Amino acid sequence: MSDCLFCKIVNDEIKASKIYEDEKVIAFNDINPQSPVHILVIPKQHIPSINQIDESNQSIIGHIHLVINKLAKEKGLADKGYRIVNNCGKDGGQTVNHLHFHLLGGRDMQWPPG
Ligand code: 5GP
Ligand code: ZN
Repeated sequence: MSDCLFCKIVNDEIKASKIYEDEKVIAFNDINPQSPVHILVIPKQHIPSINQIDESNQSIIGHIHLVINKLAKEKGLADKGYRIVNNCGKDGGQTVNHLHFHLLGGRDMQWPPG
């Protein structure tokens, strides 16, 4: 989608600190990290949010979580733990309307979230 920030990162029109790429997804460091490790994992395909997940594209959700599993191990987070966040829509705090999962780790997380 031409006016989507994350599509522009997928297409290398905007630079990002990319740490993983395969045929379906990319992962890159968040520009405004909220923890020592803060990685965004996004589909290359433009899907606005979880609201647009259906039978035809649901496999991307599992794939993203396999990538998160791999990155968590690589970043040394797997044993201590980490948090996976998906913000959906305005009340969920979503600010970029291209599906993404946050991998946050390297510090104690609080609950409930803000
Ligand atoms: P959301 O609030 O939609 O769940 O998450 C969007 C995330 O994208 C935020 O954590 C924000 O810091 C990050 N972000 C926004 N613009 C950019 C950018 O240009 N580059 C990178 N790497 N991250 C961005
Ligand atoms: Zn997009």
